[in-house]
Amino acid sequence: MKARMARPVEKDSIVDGPGIRTVLWFQGCTHNCYGCHNPQTHDLDGGYITETSKIIEEVGDISFQDGITFSGGDPIMQIDAVLEIAKKYPDINKWLYTGFTFEQLLLIGEKKESMRELLNLLDVVVDGKFEMNLRSFDVKFRGSTNQRVIDVKKSLKRKKVIEKKLEYNPKKIVSEKRVYI
Ligand code: SF4
Repeated sequence: MKARMARPVEKDSIVDGPGIRTVLWFQGCTHNCYGCHNPQTHDLDGGYITETSKIIEEVGDISFQDGITFSGGDPIMQIDAVLEIAKKYPDINKWLYTGFTFEQLLLIGEKKESMRELLNLLDVVVDGKFEMNLRSFDVKFRGSTNQRVIDVKKSLKRKKVIEKKLEYNPKKIVSEKRVYI
């Protein structure tokens, strides 16, 4: 399946979710948030086209990463490609950043099966547009205070938005996964 990407797969990110993560940068976003840090990712015809199989190849050995983050742009603009990749990593922690709200994703899911499938595979959605007047450097893994770090599995189960408690201890996660010699 084709996917339009903004840039190559990034490994070892420490700012796109907890731990050391692999980030996939999808091209295309129509939210047009004032003050967006990645305006070059907006153009729906920008970036470059590749195959999802090639992206999976680029991700490579993920055993020393704490998770995968789907970012952009807005990955929701390419749900089917994101879904195909997400399915390859059933046991890896998966975060997704989107300018849509979680409630909007649920509405999309009412009509689009791939949206429902994708939500069922994700651990966390960081939702909502970046709002310049709500910008904060105190909120973890987000740009503005309106954005929420949503525990997808709990939210789907309880049928209401449950925000994730960010009690992250990098030493603990890293020591579980990495071997120092
Ligand atoms: S949703 Fe994200 S990428 Fe899209 S305009 Fe807003 S901040 Fe930028």
